[in-house]
Amino acid sequence: MTPETADVVVVGGGPAGLFCAAHLPAALDVLLLERMPEPGRKLLLSGSGQANLTHTGDLAAFLDRYGDDDHGRFLRHALRSLSNEGLGRWFADREVPLETREDGKVFPASRRAQDVLEALQTACTGNGVRLLPGARVGSIERTPGGFRIRADQVEVDARAVVLATGGASYAQTGSSGDGYRLAAALGHTVVEPHPALAPVEPDPYPFADLAGVSVPDAGFVLLRGDRRLRARRGDLLFTHRGLSGPGVLDLSRDVRPGDRLLLSFLPDLRPEELDARMIELCRDRGAARLPAALAPLHLPERLLRRLLHQAGLPEETTGARMTKEQRRAVTTALTAFPLAVGRVGDFAVAMATAGGVALGEVDPKTMGSRLVPGLFFAGEVLDLDGDSGGYNLQAAFSTGALAATGVARLLD
Ligand SMILES: Cc1cc2nc3c(=O)[nH]c(=O)nc-3n(C[C@H](O)[C@H](O)[C@H](O)COP(=O)(O)OP(=O)(O)OC[C@H]3O[C@@H](n4cnc5c(N)ncnc54)[C@H](O)[C@@H]3O)c2cc1C
Repeated sequence: MTPETADVVVVGGGPAGLFCAAHLPAALDVLLLERMPEPGRKLLLSGSGQANLTHTGDLAAFLDRYGDDDHGRFLRHALRSLSNEGLGRWFADREVPLETREDGKVFPASRRAQDVLEALQTACTGNGVRLLPGARVGSIERTPGGFRIRADQVEVDARAVVLATGGASYAQTGSSGDGYRLAAALGHTVVEPHPALAPVEPDPYPFADLAGVSVPDAGFVLLRGDRRLRARRGDLLFTHRGLSGPGVLDLSRDVRPGDRLLLSFLPDLRPEELDARMIELCRDRGAARLPAALAPLHLPERLLRRLLHQAGLPEETTGARMTKEQRRAVTTALTAFPLAVGRVGDFAVAMATAGGVALGEVDPKTMGSRLVPGLFFAGEVLDLDGDSGGYNLQAAFSTGALAATGVARLLD
């Protein structure tokens, strides 16, 4: 097979690869290789098909949303060169205006991920990008002039390569971790990938029959052995098998089987404050059964009943008859409900991948490899995972745009 040639090969047609290709100088011959029959499959699933593209907030607020280490800081150049507002302008210019929800999440006003994908593809076509679907890249070798890329249908010699192969979750969308292998073969360190933004399955799990019930603001404390690892707040959703919702998903990157969780269903109240509030409610509503007496706490009724049951209180107990010990047990159930973690959702259900190409080996100002001149990275293939709420897509777009600038500077 005689190799084709291109100035730049972008590997992967997700949001990072498409955005990067759309931003490369039109004068460059750009070939985008995508293994699936069409690009952007994960993007189409994002935000339940509505694509939560980014979030409101300034740069400082963004940098906190990529875990504890220096991962957020790595993104500061990328986010400065393409902020959430810049992203909004880019899409608005392409007739996909964005809209901010009350909770800060930003979506296309049409609520259609398909519109986002079409805008990206149109921008690529307009920029002269050649998009080749069904071309799974199996190897990338260095050559004197740059790289030889071997894919299912083609071999290409290129001066620069952008690796935008995504993470390892939802493999049916095409991102099954190939990029890690390709990067490692070129000499890069890959931080062990593991699922992030995944549901957590306690064992035992006493809330299976509450599937579908949600608590808008819950508190979570993560314990490992004697150590308190992390505390978080956020929405909680009970499912048949475990805990989900943004609060749990965001915490999940740090959760391991064997850890313990303490759940507070009233995170604004300290235990002694809740105790005092219950004394007040039981005094004012002494004749009522507990679920009715405690209704002003504004917990979902089925959850309240379950927590009372877990605290060992019979349904018919009235406010006036609750003993001090029983009140203590209820306080604990409501503010520090203990659960042991049996399992954390695997790559089949995780919405993101933690781990990936080690950030220390990538220049945050260009997304260029510090080890292999001409090699660039964009998106989730990097050791970056954001909280739920639009942070992962913003990272994909911002790193994609910055990689395009880096390539342009190199090939100028
Ligand atoms: C169900 C779900 C919902 C989500 N919702 C949101 C959301 O609302 N907001 C948000 O911010 N994030 C969301 N995410 C996360 C977000 O979709 C990803 O972080 C984002 O898609 C990453 O973009 P990417 O371009 O780096 O990788 P991907 O989107 O994974 O794209 C990588 C592309 O590379 C291709 N590829 C892989 N290997 C090869 C190869 N060897 N050769 C050629 N091509 C290859 C793949 O087929 C794929 O098309 C969600 C994820 C899931 C799974």
